[in-house]
Amino acid sequence: MKFDRSEELFERAEKVMPGGVNSPVRAFKSVEMTALFAKSASGSKITDEDGNVYIDYISSWGPLILGHANPEVHKGVMDVFEGGISYGLSTKKEIELAELISSMYPAAQMVRMVNSGTEATMSAIRLARGYTERSKILKFEGCYHGHFDGLLVKSGSGALTFNIPTSKGVTEDIAKDTLVATYNDFKSVEKCFEEFGPEIAGVIIEPVAGNMGVVEGEREFISALRKITRENGTLLIFDEVITGFRLGLDGAAGYYGIEPDLVCFGKVIGGGLPVGAYGGKREIMSEVAPLGDVYQAGTLSGNPLAVHLGLNLLSYLNRNPQIYSQLEDRAIRLEEGLVEGAKSGKIPVTVNRVKGMLSMFMTDSPVTTFAQVMTSDTKIYARYFKKMLSQGILFPPSQYEGLFLSAAHTDEDLNLTIKANVNALRLAGE
Ligand SMILES: *Cc1c(COP(=O)(O)O)cnc(C)c1O
Repeated sequence: MKFDRSEELFERAEKVMPGGVNSPVRAFKSVEMTALFAKSASGSKITDEDGNVYIDYISSWGPLILGHANPEVHKGVMDVFEGGISYGLSTKKEIELAELISSMYPAAQMVRMVNSGTEATMSAIRLARGYTERSKILKFEGCYHGHFDGLLVKSGSGALTFNIPTSKGVTEDIAKDTLVATYNDFKSVEKCFEEFGPEIAGVIIEPVAGNMGVVEGEREFISALRKITRENGTLLIFDEVITGFRLGLDGAAGYYGIEPDLVCFGKVIGGGLPVGAYGGKREIMSEVAPLGDVYQAGTLSGNPLAVHLGLNLLSYLNRNPQIYSQLEDRAIRLEEGLVEGAKSGKIPVTVNRVKGMLSMFMTDSPVTTFAQVMTSDTKIYARYFKKMLSQGILFPPSQYEGLFLSAAHTDEDLNLTIKANVNALRLAGE
C-alpha cells in the first residue's frame, strides 16, 4: 500500500496550515505517520488520494451513524441549495428539529442550535453559571468537552485547588474556576463539594466517556452525581456530543434513566455538517437571550442546510429504532472477534463496549478509570494501527478514541476486520 499522494499533499499542507491539518488528530502523529487525505467515501468505505480503499471506523468521528454519503441523510439537499442556503431569519424546519429533539430526548424541553459541540458545551457552561449565579465548574479527568478555555483543564499534582491548563493560552485565572475530579470515583466528587459546594454552578460529564477510549460511567456513580448536584443546587450537564442519538434514541439519559438539567449535542445531530445544540429544563433555558440575560448567538446557527441534514437523520433514526440493536449486535461481534484474536497473540488487549460503542486498549488491565486508560501501550497501538491500515482497515489514529460503527458496516466488513486484527496483533507483537 502506497501513500505517495497523501505524503505529497501533507508536505504542501504543512506550509500553509499548522501541522498540515484543521484538527490535530487528523495529523496521525500519535500513530507516527503523516495525514491521510480522503478523496471520497460511500457506505462503510473511504478512499484516499492514493486510491487506497479502507473499511472506515472513524465515521467522521461519530456523525455518520448511517455511513458515508447516505441517501436518507442527503435527501432533498439540492432543494435546500436552490431555495438559498442561509437567510439570517428563522425557518420552519428549525422548529421541527427542536420539536423532534425534544420528543426523543425529554430532558431537552427547550433547545438552542449552535455550530459545534464546543459551542454547545461553552454555552451550557455560561448558562449554568448565569442561572445559578455561581462560578465554578466541575469536570472529570479524561472527559473531553471541546476546546473551550474553561474545560481545557486537568488536575494538578494532588492538590484539589491547583488545576492546570492543558493548553497554552488558557490562563490560570480561568483554570482556577474549573475543578477536576476522578471519573468513576465518587469520593473525589464529594471532596470537591465539601470544599466548594455552594460555588459550583455545574458538573459536566460524558456519562459514557468516548474521549479516553470508551469507558462507561458506573450506574451508581452517575446516580450519585444526580443526587449530589440536586442537593447542592448545582446543575448536572450531560455532554452527549458523542452519545446523543448514538447510544440509543434517548442517549445516555435513557441508558441510565437519569435526567440531566442541561444536555449538549453535536456530531450525529448534524448528519455530517457542523452542528451542535444545547438544551434542558424550560426554567433554565429561559435564561438564554433574548428571553433571559445569558447572551449567546450565532450568525449561522440553525442554518437551513445543517438543520435539513440533521432533521433527515434524526427522523430516520426515530422511525427505525432497530438501527440501535443492529449496531449493538455488530459491536458485540466485533468485540468478540477482537478479543478472540488477541488470545493467539502476545499483545494484551482489553475491549470496552457499551451498546454500539466500543474501543480497544493495549493493556491487560481492566479499563474503568482514567488511570487504567493510561496503562495502554500507545507505541504498540501505533504499530497495530499501521498493520490494520495496510490490510485496508482504518481504525482511529489514536489509542484514546472509540471505534465508530455505522449501519453501513456489513458482516463482510466485520469478518475482514476480525481477520486483519489477528494478523495485525501478531505483526505488531514481533
Ligand atoms: C467531539 C466532542 C466535543 C466537541 O465537539 P466539536 O464539534 O468538535 O466542537 C465535545 N464533547 C464531546 C464529548 C465530544 O466528543
